[in-house]
Amino acid sequence: MPEKTVKVFDGHNDTLTKIRHGGPNAQRSFLERSEKGHIDLPRAREGGLAGGFFAIFTSSPNYERVVDPLVGADGQTVPEAWSVPLPPKLDRRIATSWTLSVMSDLFRLEAESDGAISVVRTTAELRRCLSDGTFAVILHIEGAEAIDSKLEALDVFYEAGLRSLGPVWSRPTIFGHGVPFDFPRSPDTGPGLTAAGRRLVERCNKLGILIDLSHLNLKGFWDVSAISQAPLVATHACAWSLSQTPRNLTDEQLDAIGESGGLVGINYAVGFLRADGDGSGEFKTPLTEIVRHATYVADRIGVEHVALGSDFDGARIPEDLGDATGLPRLIEAFRDAGFAEQDIELIAFRNWLRVLDQTWRE
Ligand SMILES: [Zn+2]
Repeated sequence: MPEKTVKVFDGHNDTLTKIRHGGPNAQRSFLERSEKGHIDLPRAREGGLAGGFFAIFTSSPNYERVVDPLVGADGQTVPEAWSVPLPPKLDRRIATSWTLSVMSDLFRLEAESDGAISVVRTTAELRRCLSDGTFAVILHIEGAEAIDSKLEALDVFYEAGLRSLGPVWSRPTIFGHGVPFDFPRSPDTGPGLTAAGRRLVERCNKLGILIDLSHLNLKGFWDVSAISQAPLVATHACAWSLSQTPRNLTDEQLDAIGESGGLVGINYAVGFLRADGDGSGEFKTPLTEIVRHATYVADRIGVEHVALGSDFDGARIPEDLGDATGLPRLIEAFRDAGFAEQDIELIAFRNWLRVLDQTWRE
């Protein structure tokens, strides 16, 4: 008898941005099955994906990723390594206009779905969706460029449904500094939060908006850790000890997340999973790499602090996972690694419910 499908609630995807912005290879209707990208509603249902954090991300105009081999300590270039310079600060008007457009896409999609999709604002709504099969969407903004230093826009976005916010993407904002895409490198890449960044954390606590630590540099991470009353959460990151990109979390960061009662959504991006940091796709990356990072975090801080944060539609993921329909194979890989069924459920969705219960105000 086949094992039951485990539903997965996921910490991060870039699907909304990709559908609007990604060109002919990405544009599609979320409601119809497609071969493009990683998620649409039919593929989510097939794979047991019950919903997730849907990011709104504004890209920098005229910014192109440049692959730039690093020079190692011995003076030789490191062929698999890659380094991308940080784009400059983004104009707030560009970010605001884009963010409103993508939010509108989401609310129109919800309306068109005829009840199949729901933007959730409370954990009661999320629980209802998980039990009745409605696809649940948490509105997340990745990089707070659309928010002013007086935090007026934050109040408005909250009322519209914003429940999760990254103070930075890998780009400086008025609130803090993000890490570059680089390998191998420490996440200690610059100064911590600004005064506005500290006010942002306090206001998010007060409203009940989750603060996503992914992309934040090390000093910014410790600043949030010192100020925030909520569990510490990185929605899409892996273990730095296993793959030394600054996007991943050091052992000390993992410990702080565990002590706060927080959560790490393990990222499926091959460049953050692989020990050699190669995100090019030239070499095959088995989906067991995701389990390897999850096991590391669970062994260090406990399985109640591990979740999934796919980066679907935002990153190159293991080929044998493919897209959302491959999730049952990932669950099987957790079983093969010896995870008990009840621990798999914690990782797949229950840990998110606990952390959101402690973070959101309802
Ligand atoms: Zn991201």
